[in-house]
Amino acid sequence: MYLPHEIEPKWQKKWMETGIYNASDTSKAQKSYILVEFPYPSGERLHVGHARSYCSIDAVARLKRMQGFNVMYPFGWDAFGLPAENYAIKTGIHPSITVAENIKKSKAQVISWGLSFDWDREINTTDPNYYKWTQWIFLQLYNAGLAYRDEIAVNWCPSCKTNLANEEVVAGKCERCGHVTKRRTQKQWLLKITAYSERLLNDLTAVDYRNDIKIQQINWIGRKEGVSIDYPVIDSDEVLKCFTTRPDTNFGASFIALAPEHRLAKLISDVDHKVEVKKYIEISIKKSELERQEGKIKTGVFTGRYVLNRLNNEKLPIYIADYVLHSVGTSAIVGVPAHDIRDFEFANKFKLNAKRVVLEKGNTDLNNVTNTDEVYEGEGTIVNSGFLNDLDSEQGLQVVIDFLEKNGFGKRSTTYHLRDWVFSRQHYWGEPIPVVYCEKCGIVTIPEKDLPVVLPYLENYKPSETGESPLSKAEDWLYVKCPNCEGKARRETDTMPNWAGSSWYFLRYIDPNNDNTFADFNKLQKWMPIDWYNGGMEHTTLHLLYSRFWYKFLFDKKLVPNIEPYAKRTSHGVVLGPNGKKMSKSKGNVINPDDIVLSYGADSLRLYLMFSGPFELNVSWSNEAIMGVRRFLNRVWDISTKVIESGRITSADDILRLINVGIKRSEEDILGTKFNTYVSGLMEIVNFLIENESKVGIDAIKLLVLILAPGAPHISEEMWSLLGEEYSVHRSKWPKYDINYDLATDFNIVVQVDGKFKGTISCTNSEVGDEVTLVKKILFALNMREKYNVSEENRRIIVKNKLINFITR
Ligand SMILES: [Zn+2]
Ligand SMILES: [Zn+2]
Repeated sequence: MYLPHEIEPKWQKKWMETGIYNASDTSKAQKSYILVEFPYPSGERLHVGHARSYCSIDAVARLKRMQGFNVMYPFGWDAFGLPAENYAIKTGIHPSITVAENIKKSKAQVISWGLSFDWDREINTTDPNYYKWTQWIFLQLYNAGLAYRDEIAVNWCPSCKTNLANEEVVAGKCERCGHVTKRRTQKQWLLKITAYSERLLNDLTAVDYRNDIKIQQINWIGRKEGVSIDYPVIDSDEVLKCFTTRPDTNFGASFIALAPEHRLAKLISDVDHKVEVKKYIEISIKKSELERQEGKIKTGVFTGRYVLNRLNNEKLPIYIADYVLHSVGTSAIVGVPAHDIRDFEFANKFKLNAKRVVLEKGNTDLNNVTNTDEVYEGEGTIVNSGFLNDLDSEQGLQVVIDFLEKNGFGKRSTTYHLRDWVFSRQHYWGEPIPVVYCEKCGIVTIPEKDLPVVLPYLENYKPSETGESPLSKAEDWLYVKCPNCEGKARRETDTMPNWAGSSWYFLRYIDPNNDNTFADFNKLQKWMPIDWYNGGMEHTTLHLLYSRFWYKFLFDKKLVPNIEPYAKRTSHGVVLGPNGKKMSKSKGNVINPDDIVLSYGADSLRLYLMFSGPFELNVSWSNEAIMGVRRFLNRVWDISTKVIESGRITSADDILRLINVGIKRSEEDILGTKFNTYVSGLMEIVNFLIENESKVGIDAIKLLVLILAPGAPHISEEMWSLLGEEYSVHRSKWPKYDINYDLATDFNIVVQVDGKFKGTISCTNSEVGDEVTLVKKILFALNMREKYNVSEENRRIIVKNKLINFITR
């Protein structure tokens, strides 16, 4: 009988002892570096979402190993940051203790899933031997002028009591806890990721990322070409710069609006408007970006001042308006109400003109726009616009930009949505930023020989209401001699964000114990770039951009060998609760993977997670389906043991033919992230073997075990040993697809569904003679169930030796 709870721990122990999954730094075999995102151990154990990613990609690592690659599939812990700190605050136990405990528990979980990680390379971002190098990389960035301090408006989460990067604020809310964020100004460390905008964008052509991942990155970088127009302020020496991508509509401009944070917002108003402007600015900078963006009623205040639009010598009134965001463009806009909805809403409130300057095809109305429905944001024919009249938008755009540039009124320019990365947090549980403030010398970096700056033990590590870092209370640690002048100095008390340790961890796996450098260059050259990196969609714009930026910087310093760290990136969908809703404790729909391992075994969990649906899509948990998977493994056990007992050596031809097709399909499915059809393919093979048991020999069972090994490693290891084969199946050669089974054919059968061509299949004389066998083979080989929802049940029309047409209607 199939007893997963006996065989699984047994093999896990043996795998660990024999180190069969360890990557070799010296092997001549072709390398394959396969990576999954390391988790942050918070207190919650790892969930089924982790299991889905790790188990599916584990099948890739196992297949590659069997194909002869020198595979590195490492694992570690991203243990600094808010999840760990919040858990420690909740339990009242110091994070250094909870993190160690949680890592221990999570590691036991991961081992119980039978993952083929190379544990010799395990890393932990809170280990001083690790974060020494995180600090070291920060210092290189600082020395290169890419880390700087600035007084900036930051997003403040009142619940997490921390500042957040723009990327961590989703629709005005804290990405982690969902609270509405507030804005406030504070001196912060920033990393100049914007210096790499162009390369982060252009080098996407050099990598194989799934298309939606690429698009999200492109949009986040947000490159826009347009023109920055200079508007002289009337009766002043000041000039306002407004970036616009649609200068072809500029004859329709009727106002200028500045973000409340604009450099001139507080200074520009005339005496009569000063008080009102000041009041407005105070109120609006406290609002979150979401509050400022939503709502049709725009707010603003007139400054009493005007600029000159030199295109038509019109005066444009200057307003302060909070729908203009400081983080976008030049933080000032030129309002064209007839051709921008939000500008129209604003103009409507302040009774400003909405002159129509672009006509949609077929429209001849030259009058002002008077209601929202008439606002036209598209391209068309230019009207009411002096020398631009009758041009189409595209021509007009070039003509007006040339005109502005020639007259010195403006300049072609490119803007990006990407902002510099706010890199300091006023939190305890993070890497200390390795600088001091000296009374004489200002900012002084800690010398390399004194790294790491170890995080001091603090009893009270809670974040403070004032936003000051808890480290400012660590008196013994705080005051040091300046490394430069030996005078009095105070350490930086801010720590690095969650994203620091994960921005380079994949490099440390390559050389985890190196004391002299973050990783030896020769080893980096051997292993980089990462051949396949899988992770959550939620990390597409944060972690992925940050780590690409660090890698490119290290490349510029000649410390890593290539321009991009990840050759390929895929992403998995979320596992939802049985009710199709996001799993959460409060909804009571959380499936704990450990319970599943207890009830069904790890191989069932693994195959179920692969089987549950297309890898990139969300799936809902199904208890029936996991029972189905467990029954499948029972059947694998039964047929294999029966055939072994029978002592039958060789199988009939049609059996071997089917399994040969299965070899090819399994390989294609696993490498193509079609894990679900890989599993359903195995199920079809096993059903066929059971139905034709008397024709099945040990040769077929051996092949079955080999192609099952990537997905269900324990049962296949057990079977391999029952077959009397040498340990381990996971170090055995992936079976070669035998092309002879394709050549030994007599007929090419055309396959149709409802009369539409779906493919052809080669069949032997005996196969075409037996309709049941023929249909089974076609369903399996062309993946008909998955693709066309066709089964044995469907009516069919057969033209003997030529064609088969499945009817679904
Ligand atoms: Zn929060
Ligand atoms: Zn000094």
